Parts: sequence; C-alpha cells; structure tokens
Amino acid sequence: MELARLTWPEAKDALERAGVALLPVGSTEQHGPHLPLGTDFLAAEWIAKEAARRGGFLLLPTVPVGVSVHHRQFWGTLWVESAVLKTYVAGIARSLSSHGLKKLVFVNGHGGNTIALTEAAHELRREGIPAYVYVWWRAVADEIRALIEGGGGHAGEMEASVVWHIAPDFIRSEKFAEAAAGAAPTWGKSIHGVEIGYDTIDFAPLGCVGSPERSSPEKGRKILEAAVEKLVAFSRWLAETPLEELLPKPHKP
Ligand SMILES: [Zn+2]
Repeated sequence: MELARLTWPEAKDALERAGVALLPVGSTEQHGPHLPLGTDFLAAEWIAKEAARRGGFLLLPTVPVGVSVHHRQFWGTLWVESAVLKTYVAGIARSLSSHGLKKLVFVNGHGGNTIALTEAAHELRREGIPAYVYVWWRAVADEIRALIEGGGGHAGEMEASVVWHIAPDFIRSEKFAEAAAGAAPTWGKSIHGVEIGYDTIDFAPLGCVGSPERSSPEKGRKILEAAVEKLVAFSRWLAETPLEELLPKPHKP
C-alpha cells in the first residue's frame, strides 16, 4: 500500500490494516562520474516499496535529500542539516501516529543520515512511537561480503550493481574505467590515527571509493533481494509485537 496513491477514506483503512509504516530516506548526492545523484534514495525506495508490497505494510513517500554536505564540491549534490532531517522525519512519524499508526521503520539509503535518524527514533520511542532505523547495507553485510569482490565503498561495485538492477538506464558503464582509475581505496583519510578527510574530495578526487568494474545487475538483484527479505522479516516482527513491549521500560520498582 502506497500512501501517496490512496484517497483519505482509503488511507483510513490502510492505516488500520498496515501495522507498520516504511519511510524510505535517501540522499541526492554525487556518486562518481558513472552513477546518478539519486542512487541512495532510489535504492532505499526500491527496497521499501518491495517490502511493503510483499508484507502488506504502508509505504510512505520517499525523503530524497539527506545529510550530504561532505559531497558539496561535486555538482548537483543537495543537503540539509542533520538537525533538519531529524526534525523532519520525526514530524512525519508524529503525524502518522496522530492517525493511529505508531510503528515505523526508517529505511535508510545513506550513511550520512544514520545519526539523525537514530536520534529521531530514540526521541520518538520515548514519546510512545516505536521507530527503528533499517540501514539496509548493514543488514546484508554478510551477503555483500560474499558477492562483492571489491568491497562496498561509495559508488563502488556494490552500489553500481544495485543501480544497474533497479535503474539500468541511469548507469554510465562506459565511465566505469575512469571511475576505477580515480577511486580512493577506502573511505576517509587519516594522519597519525586522526581522521582529516572531512569532505569526500579530500580523499576521492572523482567522488568514488572502490572500483565499479566488477559490478553486475545480477549481483545487485541478489543483494536487493536479501535486503528486502530482512526488512520484511523485521517489519513482520514489529507488526506482531505488542506496542507496550516496544516502549521504554518504567523505573525500577
Ligand atoms: Zn550511495
């Protein structure tokens, strides 16, 4: 059930039946010369949409811009402050709660969003709205390790495979070699154990980490399938667990 496609009388039924709502949260940020700016929100949206379809959960409209200020030197990157994202997603959760649907999963597509979403989730739970952060690539870290030979870096083999499966028209495979030649081996840059790579451009001149050259739509399909399965399983557990069990415990007697 996609909220945006329903009328309000239909939404009333859907809100009662869904049990759990899924909110895809992504980013619009550079992903090298070979992947689209929408990579992160496209992946989060695809996973959430498929999980909602299979499990009968309520799919909320995607939040397409996140915490991406560290990519700002690359053209087209958009960002909001972390505090803005936290307040914004909490507002969505509170409005949903006012309609009676109190269980929510943030389906996160971008690492830079994780702190803001986690803070929002903790705050919401204290208010009686159990919210959780599904960081999809962390949930399927084992599958990624098994399938992706070149690691899971930003705009590398894993993300290229995922985009190739969900939006093949958006892939610039003719740019893979260029991306690989200019890619950083790992995320960040440290000197004497101190992180000094605050912006992506400090360590990755083309904006990518890891080579996309071994990516394939089939690898993307397998990773996404695993991510959907885990999200469906978690959301089912959430739907079945009584609200009281999810909320913070009272003081010790
Ligand atoms: Zn990404």
